[in-house]
Formats: sequence, C-alpha cells, structure tokens
Amino acid sequence: MRANCWMGRNHVEVRDVPDPRILNSRDAIVRITSTAICGSDLHLYDGYIPTMKKGDVLGHEFMGEVVETGPDVTGLRAGDRVVVPFPIACGACDACEHGLYSVCENSNPNAGMAEKVMGYSPAGIFGYSHMLGGFAGGQAEYARVPFADVGPIKIEDDLPDEQVLFLSDIFPTGWMGAEMCDITPGDVIAVWGAGPVGQFAIASAFLMGAERVIAIDRIPYRLDKAERAGAEVLDYERTDVLDALRDMTAGRGPDACIDAVGIEAHHPAPLMYGYDRAKQATRTETDRPFALREAIMACRNGGVVSVVGVYGGFVDKFPMGSLMNRSITLRGAQCHVQRYLRPLLERIRAGDIDPGFVISHRMPLEDAPHGYEIFRQKEDDCLKVVLTP
Ligand SMILES: [Zn+2]
Ligand SMILES: [Zn+2]
Repeated sequence: MRANCWMGRNHVEVRDVPDPRILNSRDAIVRITSTAICGSDLHLYDGYIPTMKKGDVLGHEFMGEVVETGPDVTGLRAGDRVVVPFPIACGACDACEHGLYSVCENSNPNAGMAEKVMGYSPAGIFGYSHMLGGFAGGQAEYARVPFADVGPIKIEDDLPDEQVLFLSDIFPTGWMGAEMCDITPGDVIAVWGAGPVGQFAIASAFLMGAERVIAIDRIPYRLDKAERAGAEVLDYERTDVLDALRDMTAGRGPDACIDAVGIEAHHPAPLMYGYDRAKQATRTETDRPFALREAIMACRNGGVVSVVGVYGGFVDKFPMGSLMNRSITLRGAQCHVQRYLRPLLERIRAGDIDPGFVISHRMPLEDAPHGYEIFRQKEDDCLKVVLTP
C-alpha cells in the first residue's frame, strides 16, 4: 500500500510499504477514507520527538471502513464506517476503567522507553514514535487498529467524513482543554495558539458557557478565524500579552488559560527565543515553553492552566513561584478521546458545531509532503490539511 513515511528531519515521503495484517485477535484492518495532518505531526517532522525511525508511517487522525476483524473483535464487522481515536487503549486496565484512555497501561509495548523520560508510560499512539509504541499511523491506505472493540466509533448515518474525522483527535482535545478549565457562566478564558486545537478549544469554551474567550497567536488568518468564532484576539508580536490580558480583565487576569501551543512555541523577544532555542539545540532543554510560562503568569489568582499543547520532555525557567504562591492549578493531558466520542458525535448531529470549519486544504495522500510543508510554513493560510488516500 501507499503510506506517508517519516524519512528524517524535515523529510516525509509517500512510499510503498507492506499492507498491515491482523496480528492480534482484537485487531481490525481499516481502509482509510480520510486522514489529516496534525500540529503534533509537525513536532515529528521538525525532529523534536525522539525515537522516530526512518520509514515510520505517520498519522494519528484517520477514519475509514473496516475491511477485516480479528476473531475477538465484538461490535464491529467488515463494511462498518469508523473514526479511530489516536490513543490506543485496551478498555480493561485500571486506567481505562477510570476513563483515562490516553494512559492505558496495556497499549504501549515500548513502555520502558517512555518510563525513562516520564516516570511511567502513557498509552501507545498511532504514528507517534517508538517511545509511544512504534505503531504504524493512518496517513496511509490501510491501518491496523489494535483493541478495535474499544476505540473506533461507528458512524451509522450519512454525516460526511469532514464532519466526523476530527473526532479522532483535535475536537475532543480542544473540548477537553476547555473542560479542564471548570468553566462557569461569566468566565473569561484565554487560549494560547489559534491553530486547529485552539480553534476547537475556543468553540468548546463558548459551548460550555464562557462569557469571553481571548485568543493569542501571531498569524493573522488564524486570529481572523478565532475572531469569527466570537473570540477577542491578541497578536503577541504587536501586543504585550500580560499587560493586555490584565487590562481586558479589570486587572485580575483570565479565569483559566489554555496552552494549545506546546513545544515549538515562538517568542517575539529575540533574547528569550534565543535562550530556549539554544538550549533546545544543545539538548539541555527539550521543549520551548513560552506559551506555558505566559499562561501561568497571566492566569488570575486561584485559576486553572490547562495544557493540551504537546510537550515531549523537560522545560526551563518554569514559573513555579507564581504557580504555588498564587494557588494556580495546572492540568494537562493527552486527550482521553474514547470518553468524548459519543457525546461529541451527538453535538455534531445536533448541529451545535460543524468541525469541518478548520479545514483549509484538501489533497490526495500522494501530496502529503506538500501538505506538511505548507502547514509548517503557515503558507497559503494553511490551518488544517485533509488527505485522501
Ligand atoms: Zn492530532
Ligand atoms: Zn487500558
């Protein structure tokens, strides 16, 4: 089959790879009809996530048609149309039983590698490094889906792919980012990053009753999109974000702050950017936490900072004094997607939201390298690329 493969830093290539096969009795094989490039794929592309190997098949946002199931897969059969969540989860371990699917204890065969960096291992993730399982991803014609009786959600009506595809990751991720803010009516929520996850966090915060949402980014078309969704916007290259947020909230700060940026944050001050960029280059710091630092400093006393932007390892100059002394709660997670599939599908069905609003580009799988490049360079107002195998 054809698949988009990681070939080294800044290099992906659509190549012929062996078709996936059923390896375990709870596997299914899915013929992919739509797949997307995620902001977190750019961290792989840019070489910031360790333990990638040349030839790894990328992609963790995909949907399609079941073509084969292992003998122990219940509830799915060939011909079913499914969306597949990005974390792989067994459904039966202690974490899964508590709804903490992205930290399933049984789905990462390389848990030992992750334990060295993180203490304990999170779940395996499709197409996201060997440290997270080395699973082939979904930017391909077919994918093997382990624990297929737990993850995939059947789409039984005629909602088009573009409306349901993002249940695989970015819609639930943005939703959970807002949910972790414990929003009550009247709240002001600030969102760092107006990329796809940021856009869903903004929409979700409004659906949960936030009175105002303030989006922070530097790319005009992303800020425009946030504004059209009802957010107030700040361009951090033109505005001092901390001052502006203070002014906009009567001197108190936003009730909660969402970091939808993660490890490749930019910073307008060359000195600050240079510090983290240099530490990252010399491997004395893995992640550039500008957005996270600012979110903590900006948050009102007693507020919540919710992290859904992806981090890989370690950060410097973490404002621990601000967090501790000001009673701030810091929460973060890879999204427990399986929890949100049904309720968010209902939201889509009810017309509360049409997740297709983030799509800026549609192209064949064969053009994946071009898709990665324009998404990374923010060229051609690229916000979200959907690939069709
Ligand atoms: Zn994603
Ligand atoms: Zn589990």
